[in-house]
Amino acid sequence: MGNSETRRKAAVVRRERIRAKTAAAMRGAGERPRFVADVMLGKLAKWLRIAGFDVLYSNRYSDDALIALSNKEGRILLSLDSRLLVRKSVKNFIFLESGNLEDQIKRILESTHSGMFPSPLSRCLSCNEILADVPRESVRDRVPAYVFRTQSHFKRCPQCGKIFWSGTHSRKALKTLDKILADVRSREHDPAGASFLQPTRRA
Ligand SMILES: [Zn+2]
Repeated sequence: MGNSETRRKAAVVRRERIRAKTAAAMRGAGERPRFVADVMLGKLAKWLRIAGFDVLYSNRYSDDALIALSNKEGRILLSLDSRLLVRKSVKNFIFLESGNLEDQIKRILESTHSGMFPSPLSRCLSCNEILADVPRESVRDRVPAYVFRTQSHFKRCPQCGKIFWSGTHSRKALKTLDKILADVRSREHDPAGASFLQPTRRA
């Protein structure tokens, strides 16, 4: 029982140390923030790619690899793991704190001062590559017949070759992103609501 109490206290201390790092950490975010997501965040990485963000993700990245990618490529490390973020070598990060997907996306938008999504539906969800337009005729044999009949524009991932059309990312996903953005924008005009995202300052 002493052990779990010690662990709980250690976690609280780590959180405080991470919050103290936060203000400095976001200085390098820039106008087009890029990310690397830790191994627990596959779902978040996919959603950020739907929104058009450049996000590296693999469930095989070690902690050291995540930190190296963040530091070498100027990517913001996204994580829920206070043990990872408290490490000295971690400079550029967002501590998500919540396991809820919508809360995580809101936190990222607000932390990076992103008033909109970069370019929804422009990236491969598997590879993170920017999709390229391809002539409709070239995909005739590569998509279901009814899709070919009903769609006029197609894109292709230069890495994995997968073909995308407007039904590939569901309308529901776009609606969800729209709602998240609207919530974030309305909170910007409501100081009380926005305050929870400011770095906690302690005397
Ligand atoms: Zn791909």
